[in-house]
Order: sequence, then C-alpha cells, then structure tokens
Amino acid sequence: MQGAARDALRVRAVGGGHSFTPAAVTEGVHLHLDHLAGLESLERRPDGTAYATVGAGTRLHTLNSLLAAHGLAMRNLGDIDQQTVAGAISTGTHGTGARLGGLATQVVGVRLVTATGDVVDVSRDEQPELFAMARLGLGSVGVLAAVTLEVVPAFRLEAREEPWSLDAVLEGLDDLVDGNDHFEFYWFPHTRRTLTKRNNRVAADVVEPLNPVRAWIDDELLSNGLFGLTNRLATLVPATTPRINAIAARALSARRYVAPSHEVFVSPRRIVFREMEYAIPRRELPAVLGEIEAWLRSSGERVPFPLEIRFAAADDLWLSTAHGRETAYVAAHQYVKMPFRRYFDAVEAIMRQVDGRPHWGKMHWLDSERFAELYPRFADAQRVRATADPDGLFGNPYTDHVFGARHPQV
Ligand SMILES: Cc1cc2nc3c(=O)[nH]c(=O)nc-3n(C[C@H](O)[C@H](O)[C@H](O)COP(=O)(O)OP(=O)(O)OC[C@H]3O[C@@H](n4cnc5c(N)ncnc54)[C@H](O)[C@@H]3O)c2cc1C
Repeated sequence: MQGAARDALRVRAVGGGHSFTPAAVTEGVHLHLDHLAGLESLERRPDGTAYATVGAGTRLHTLNSLLAAHGLAMRNLGDIDQQTVAGAISTGTHGTGARLGGLATQVVGVRLVTATGDVVDVSRDEQPELFAMARLGLGSVGVLAAVTLEVVPAFRLEAREEPWSLDAVLEGLDDLVDGNDHFEFYWFPHTRRTLTKRNNRVAADVVEPLNPVRAWIDDELLSNGLFGLTNRLATLVPATTPRINAIAARALSARRYVAPSHEVFVSPRRIVFREMEYAIPRRELPAVLGEIEAWLRSSGERVPFPLEIRFAAADDLWLSTAHGRETAYVAAHQYVKMPFRRYFDAVEAIMRQVDGRPHWGKMHWLDSERFAELYPRFADAQRVRATADPDGLFGNPYTDHVFGARHPQV
C-alpha cells in the first residue's frame, strides 16, 4: 500500500470481475486476492447460527461447499455463485425474499487493510462507521482481507416454477411476495407472460430431486441453448422478437423439486448480456412495469431478454439499495450483440420518477448529486471515505463519479 502511494499509483482490489460497471477497474495497481480464500474460523452460537470468517477472495461456490460441509448455509443468495465474497458484498449483491436483506446484511465483521497499511478488524462494536463503509462501499475505504458472515443451519428449499400471466402476478403480488420465503418472476417483454419462482423451506427429510434429464432440458437446453438461439435470431431479425418471446415463455413449463438451498438459488448463466438493475419502492412496481411496457410499445424497441423482478426487506446499511424501504428490484437485460443504450436510458428515466437506486455493480448513468438525494446517509458515506482515505488511494474513475469531488491523485 505504502509502495503504491510512494509511486503515485492508486490501488484497486478485484474480485471475480463480474460487475457490469467499471467498479473494479484501475489505471494503477490491481490486487487479486484469490489466495485469500477458505474458512478461517467458525464460531457456533446458541441459537444454531454461526459466525464464519472466510478469506475475502473466497468464491461464493466455494463458500457454499465449505458451509455445507459444516451443516451451515447462507441465509439468502443471488442467482450465480462465481463472485468473491468481498466483491459481492461491496456492490450490494442480493437475492430475493421480502423478509431478507442482501449479502452485506449477513456480514458481522470485516478485516480491512487501510490506506496507511494497517490491518484492522471492524464491526458494529469496533469502529462502526468504518464498518458501515467497509461492508458495502465499493472497496472505497480499504482492501477487505477477511469477512465474518452470520450463517444459518443448512436448509432445503422446495422450488416451484410456473408460468403465470403478468396480470395474475400483479393481482396477487402481495400474497406472492409476503407468502413465500423467496419469490421472483421473469417477465417476457412484448408479451403478458411470466415465469414465477417460489422457493420455500421444507423439512430436512423431504427428498424430491429434480430428474437430471429434466434439469438438463430446462437449465441447459432451454435456458441457455435455445435461449442463445432465440437471442441470435432476434439480433438478426428484430421484428420477430415478440413472437420469439411468446414461444420462449411457453417453452418453460412448470416444475417442482427440493434441493439444498444454494443449489436452488443458483442457476447456470451462459448467455452473455448487459444488465441494468434498479431498486424501487415495492409499491411502485406495477406502475413501473406498466411504464416500461408502454415505452416498448411506443418506441418500437425490441428486447428478447426477460426482465427479472426480485424483492428485499428494508435495511439500514448506508449504501444499500434497499436502505430504509421495502424494495422491488427490476433488472433489464439486453443480449450482448444487440444495442442497449436506448432501452437502458428509457428504463433509467422511468426509475428516476420513483427514486430508483441503481445496483452498484450494474450499468447506470447517475452521479454523486443524485446519490445524495437518493441515500439519506450519503453525506456520512462521503465523510467516512474522505477520513479513511484522504489521498484517494483506493479510488478509481467509477468511485470518483459515484462519490463526487475527486480526491487528489496520490
Ligand atoms: C451473470 C451475473 C449474474 C449476477 N447475479 C446477481 C444477482 O443475482 N444479484 C446481484 O445483486 N448481483 C448479481 N450480479 C452482480 C454481481 O454480484 C456484482 O457485480 C458483484 O460485485 C460481482 O462480484 P465480483 O467478485 O466479481 O466483484 P468485482 O466485480 O471484481 O468487484 C466489485 C467491487 O468490489 C470491490 N472489491 C472486490 N474485492 C475487494 C476486496 N478484497 N476489498 C475491497 N474491495 C473489493 C471492487 O473493487 C469493486 O468495486 C450478477 C452479475 C453477473 C455477471
């Protein structure tokens, strides 16, 4: 750290490099922490939960296996497991569940290498303000070396995936969101069709595995193989997109199975796409989807990729996209070979009307002035960052943009 400062270089830790924003990019020193991986310690607690301390570079798939070997699991997860623990928490990565927060809400302590090269352990009790920024702050106050997570006894989920009409989903939305541990749906634009996913805890002895042939047909052949083909077709002949989406939505039929939680949360994602995701007040969801549908109709824009809708509880993390409000997440994707900017600009403008907050690791064009309006604790975030890193050692163009006032270049 001191060497980089002496040589006037900025320092940026990179995790799995899975962000759609240049969050981890630097023109200075790139730190890869793949060697800081694995379980460091496990503290069992009387209520059955445990504090698991892992190296910051641990990939989520490794974390899940390590925890499972000890009869433990993450309370909630996103839909892929290729990220590092540090990278995932630093950008506010989340899954779905109205009573649950994102991954950073499951963090109870971190070990941080600061701008002076000191190594400090911070938590709610030890330097709580630095902890607030270290656990969800885009790596702007130091390099995470280890993360302590509150984990729960391993559990099994019953997954129910069913095609529903968009009208039926919106009509029963509160029951679906509040009545299931984890509810999400994919809406196929240019149609009124969705694929719903309801995942609920079941007793440990319930065994109803997914037939491996069916799993391959759904997850590989339809969700990746056929879906890749439909995206290529939509790229070549955009006018066919509405019909293609209707066929794709019909191809995914209902299925039900039971599996360990992390196997249900995570799906293979092999089609390359760009993504923008906004967190909005949950009550605004129906109106926002209506606006997006109206814009697609009036603009003539063609989008073969479904929108993904997820939910989270309100939390108190300063830079959490769910800070202080029950949240719905609306993720817009576009196939990598198709133009995306017009679509994403339109979605961003719609989100602006409802004070949408963009995912820190996904595409957006907001700046610090807007973040100051969107996050009640944004000034605190800027203050703690400036105190912890007065020379901007850990900055990059993306954090300069997000936090505003460029730090003096070291
Ligand atoms: C296919 C796909 C699916 C996704 N699914 C979801 C999802 O379900 N839910 C969701 O919310 N997001 C999702 N994302 C977004 C993804 O979780 C985030 O972008 C996440 O940050 C990526 O983690 P990473 O390890 O690749 O971190 P990187 O992209 O490498 O880095 C992210 C940030 O963390 C910082 N960082 C990394 N390591 C450290 C460290 N040791 N110390 C300090 N700072 C550090 C980097 O500097 C950077 O600012 C998905 C992304 C993709 C590509």
